[in-house]
Amino acid sequence: MIRSWIKTGAARVMSRTGLDKFVGSLSGAKGIPLVIGYHRVVEDFAYSAKTSIPSMLVSRRMLERHLDWIGRRFRFISLDELGARLEARDGRNDPVAAITFDDGYRDFYDHALPVLKRKGIPAAVFVVTDLVGTRRVQVHDKLYLLLANRFRRDSDAPTPFQATRALLETLPQAEIEKVIQTLEAEVPISEDTFLPFYSLTWEMLDEIRRAGMTIGSHTRTHVLLTNECRRRVMEEVAGSRQEIEGRLRTGVQHFAYPSGLFNTAAVDAVAAAGYRFGYTTCTHRDAGLPLLTVPRTLLWENSCRDSHGLFSGSILSCQVHRAFDLVSGCRQRHAASQENGNGRL
Ligand SMILES: [Zn+2]
Ligand SMILES: [Zn+2]
Repeated sequence: MIRSWIKTGAARVMSRTGLDKFVGSLSGAKGIPLVIGYHRVVEDFAYSAKTSIPSMLVSRRMLERHLDWIGRRFRFISLDELGARLEARDGRNDPVAAITFDDGYRDFYDHALPVLKRKGIPAAVFVVTDLVGTRRVQVHDKLYLLLANRFRRDSDAPTPFQATRALLETLPQAEIEKVIQTLEAEVPISEDTFLPFYSLTWEMLDEIRRAGMTIGSHTRTHVLLTNECRRRVMEEVAGSRQEIEGRLRTGVQHFAYPSGLFNTAAVDAVAAAGYRFGYTTCTHRDAGLPLLTVPRTLLWENSCRDSHGLFSGSILSCQVHRAFDLVSGCRQRHAASQENGNGRL
């Protein structure tokens, strides 16, 4: 994490001099159109951040600011148009941008869809199919809520976010479920607390699709593909595609890796399941299947604020040109495959 004031100052200099574009072009994403990723869209960031992982939130107001800034500099395109450009490798470099939302939260329907429709922006939603239309919440949200409850009593504890991430990134989902059960038995969470985390319904998704948005897959249960065995990876990746195609009677070409985690085995599974495009959250590409590892830039409420807490176009400019990627880096070992049976790293 870059200290806020250094970030503010560096961003101002870089965006004024055009250095952000140059530095960004050094990253692996050179020539790839801009693809932005968001998660939840909420009314009040501070209120929602009391129970949700803050970096998964953007307020409707901040989302509009981002979209307005990007829209003055880029032409918004759908993922299908983006995919066609990538497949054609036509070499055009007119500035285009695609907007995506991960996890399929119901708040997309309430807060993002009206904004996107009003502004005529085609966006994509990556859904976790087993959760659609149910009262089940994402594993990461439940774990975060339980850990936040538990750590409230212990001042030496790691932050709930650090602990959530450490557990999610090391254990298969079946083990995470056991941790959740143990924590829930200690301090149960009331059903009301889960309400803001509900997923979209199939009826909402149908309406979203008819409004010109793309529906993509984000697995069946949001497993992190690098932590699971080959069979589970295939079930998650292929099963979610079949489910969306059956429910919405539409082809599904686009897949987003949960938490951006991928390795060779995961990319191969996404290819085998018939997807044409896969989206990550870093600039590393799979040499053999580059269209299944298309980089995205993740944004949230505070990713474009300066040291005074105000929205900064300079910082957003650095974000969209990926000028910070060289500094903040990616520590994934993408070349690792799942030879050891259960796929644990
Ligand atoms: Zn996700
Ligand atoms: Zn990477």
